Amino acid sequence: MKLLEYQGRELFKRYGITVPRATTVNGADEAALAVDSLGGVGVIKAQVLAGSRGKAGGVRIVRGADEARAAARALFGMTIGDYSVEKLLVEELLDIEQESYLSLMLDRSIPGIGCVASASGGEEIERIAARTPSPVRKIALARGDGPDWDLCSSMLDETLGPAIAPKALPMAKGLHQLLFENDCLLAEINPLVRTRDGSVVAADAKVVVDDNGLWRHEKIRTLRNREEFSPDEMEARAAGLSFVAIKGTIGCVVNGAGLAMATMDTIKLFGGHPANFLDVGGSSNPDKILVALRILLRNMHIRVILINIFGGITRCDDIANGILMARRQLSITIPMVIRLVGTNDEAGRALLTNEGLKNSTDMIAAVREAVTLDKTAERRP
Ligand code: GDP
Ligand code: MN
Repeated sequence: MKLLEYQGRELFKRYGITVPRATTVNGADEAALAVDSLGGVGVIKAQVLAGSRGKAGGVRIVRGADEARAAARALFGMTIGDYSVEKLLVEELLDIEQESYLSLMLDRSIPGIGCVASASGGEEIERIAARTPSPVRKIALARGDGPDWDLCSSMLDETLGPAIAPKALPMAKGLHQLLFENDCLLAEINPLVRTRDGSVVAADAKVVVDDNGLWRHEKIRTLRNREEFSPDEMEARAAGLSFVAIKGTIGCVVNGAGLAMATMDTIKLFGGHPANFLDVGGSSNPDKILVALRILLRNMHIRVILINIFGGITRCDDIANGILMARRQLSITIPMVIRLVGTNDEAGRALLTNEGLKNSTDMIAAVREAVTLDKTAERRP
């Protein structure tokens, strides 16, 4: 679960990490008042889950209430990434001397907690790292045993230098405690700002909480931002489906995450483009098929639907009933290619055949057919 900057900085404060003074606002007049209370100058920042807001024009420096109001109005009309701006953070203007970078994350390759620092910050760390010579350093901070603060300290000295490192070390400790106590995957400060008067502050906050740990963090759970999921993803989650939409034209309904991935790979192999990852799970609930098809049919880019089921716990006759129920309840005008194999597949396929729905047991043949149909199918109106 991704937190917005204003939520992340509240967590930062709880762990002793210095952040600029700021307030969140929901309207342009409120923004003007907030800038007034900061002494007439400030930075107004769009609160969206997208990164690189700065580059997208989502961060504005303003002087005076009129400028604040105008900037806030412009920001509220903006869409950044896929997100419309609904909340702003009005922050004190920092007199920036240097923008650097500090983050802690769960890293499976360590395996444990990594710490990344760089003297240059303010843009995506991947971009900074791509430059040569790379100024970005990463250490294995903790591997199940406690964190190695000596190693961290010397790494921060080397990367951030004596003006920042002594102040960054307690911040790294704060991030570590934050990460640990809240089951986070990432806690990132970018930029970590050194101001001209020598203070070091976290001028942006990015926190990602592990969904698997949310059950034990009631307060954090309430921070969930609606816009993290599209309405389709919300509907899928509520029905117990794992669904991720991507850009493509072949809708996929599959059971099992591994088979769902393999189906997408095979579509790609034959030159097609899957429109989604969708795992209906290992249960045999016909309703799940109905919800899955309803979600896919809303996507106007989808020209073919490929249903690929390998029945283990899942019974193919239940799947077939789900497909038939969906066909009765939704008007399905686009072709469906159905592959059913495994538990009760003969019964399932007979149900489909009786209703005039073609089906097979061969995955490769089914994927090929879906790709061919997709290439010849008309664009949907
Ligand atoms: P992001 O682009 O979504 O990561 O948004 P950030 O909150 O990191 O802001 C982007 C950039 O805006 C920063 O790297 C700074 O260059 C600039 N910025 C943010 N706050 C201030 C500020 O208080 N003063 C000044 N001068 N620039 C700021
Ligand atoms: Mn940033």
